[in-house]
Amino acid sequence: MLNSFGRHAIIIGAGMGGLAAAKALSPYFDKVTVLERDVLPATADPRIGTPHCRQLHVLLRGGLDTLSEFFPSFEAALEKAGAIRVRVGSETLVEAPGFDPFPQRDLGIDSLSMTRPLIELVVRRFVEQEPNIAFQTGCRVTRLLASPGSTVVTGVRYDVASGDSVELAADLVIDASSRGTLTLELLDRLNLARPEETEIGVDLAYATATFRIPRHAPRNWRAVFHRPSASSGRGGFIFPIEDRCWHVGLNGVHGEAPSDQLDEFIAFAGGLRTPTIHDAIKNAEAVGAIHRFNLPASVRRRFEALRRFPQRLIPIGDAICRFNPAYGQGMTVAAQEARVLKHLLEARAKNAEGLDALAPAYFEAIQGVLAAPWSVAENDFIYGKTRGPCPRDFQQRMQFSAALQKVAAQDAAVHRTLAEVSHLLKPHSALRAPDIVSKVEAVMAEM
Ligand SMILES: Cc1cc2nc3c(=O)[nH]c(=O)nc-3n(C[C@H](O)[C@H](O)[C@H](O)COP(=O)(O)OP(=O)(O)OC[C@H]3O[C@@H](n4cnc5c(N)ncnc54)[C@H](O)[C@@H]3O)c2cc1C
Repeated sequence: MLNSFGRHAIIIGAGMGGLAAAKALSPYFDKVTVLERDVLPATADPRIGTPHCRQLHVLLRGGLDTLSEFFPSFEAALEKAGAIRVRVGSETLVEAPGFDPFPQRDLGIDSLSMTRPLIELVVRRFVEQEPNIAFQTGCRVTRLLASPGSTVVTGVRYDVASGDSVELAADLVIDASSRGTLTLELLDRLNLARPEETEIGVDLAYATATFRIPRHAPRNWRAVFHRPSASSGRGGFIFPIEDRCWHVGLNGVHGEAPSDQLDEFIAFAGGLRTPTIHDAIKNAEAVGAIHRFNLPASVRRRFEALRRFPQRLIPIGDAICRFNPAYGQGMTVAAQEARVLKHLLEARAKNAEGLDALAPAYFEAIQGVLAAPWSVAENDFIYGKTRGPCPRDFQQRMQFSAALQKVAAQDAAVHRTLAEVSHLLKPHSALRAPDIVSKVEAVMAEM
């Protein structure tokens, strides 16, 4: 044990944020307890507590690298469990307005493709190997506990299957419950302000179907991204998953919704700008049901702006920021936030500091994690009906982005940087490097 900030930490939720946070905390507490309302499956199967897990989930390279920092053999374990390696750029086909398709080239980045339950299972198996992390399943946390007359969190109350209610003390509690309502309820109870919420109201409708990969599937791609245009808002993806199948995701915004009926789902694919996805699935064998999911808005809670926040409580993952899933960023952000937490604890342990004011330091530090993916989510203001505070420089950003795409199509180095930023490997500022800006400005001058 490197140091100890206390004897016991509690993580609420065994999803992506909770698992990564448990690993981040384990060197610093005698015991870490993960409380999960679901009974966790022993196999890579969907579960009730994460209804979105049936949807196509892309793990960006930034997320893969972050999880590999926590679990050095993560990539090998995922592949062994059935994940498929996809070379970004050469084995992915990107279709974007004005580039149907975008030039394919090897960008030197590998990604792994699989279902969300498989990612979670493999991460959980690693976390379970930590001797001081214990999972308690079938435990629904109902309340965060605070010491009387103070704003210090002291533990949680949870319900078990028998209906009994149990209290468990902790020196630090992580709210990885996705909704974050336990944290908001505590703020109300303590008469503290709730964080302001910034919303990008895009009314996303999402549906995922599974197909067996046909024997004569195209050979020029293993995965497809079809990016929507401002006028239609219809997009789609094909990604390989375990057992020689594809996950095919279709999405629409502001009332455009893919159906969960196979013929209508395929017809929706037929309405995309290009026939790529439709041609791939029209004669393919569908496996199981089609699952739909609606997400009204990307939401960012501005915890960093709060003047007061309870001690010994840290929210993580979707409890802080929920993104339009079409950009595939949520799991990576949750893992990167856990890495921030790990680094903060490491530094405090080294300097023999305690947990005081950990939350404000964490809220400030994760702004660097959130900035790039939030700015990607703001692309949804291309749709006229999107609600929320559109950035004042949005038009300039869109012009820059259009010119950047043109440069990247021609220039392999710029294409690679664009991919690194999209995969949350590099900050957005990498696209403002002087050599890139001068190339982009030259193109803008001709537009
Ligand atoms: C349709 C859709 C598609 C998506 N696609 C992608 C994608 O392609 N790539 C990507 O990176 N992200 C994607 N995401 C986002 C991603 O799923 C989330 O960002 C990520 O799961 C957030 O992790 P989390 O730990 O905050 O929440 P979750 O992973 O949802 O975990 C929350 C956990 O808390 C448990 N829980 C909740 N309340 C309680 C309670 N009171 N007591 C105990 N346990 C509780 C739940 O059962 C669950 O296990 C998608 C999301 C959606 C909706």
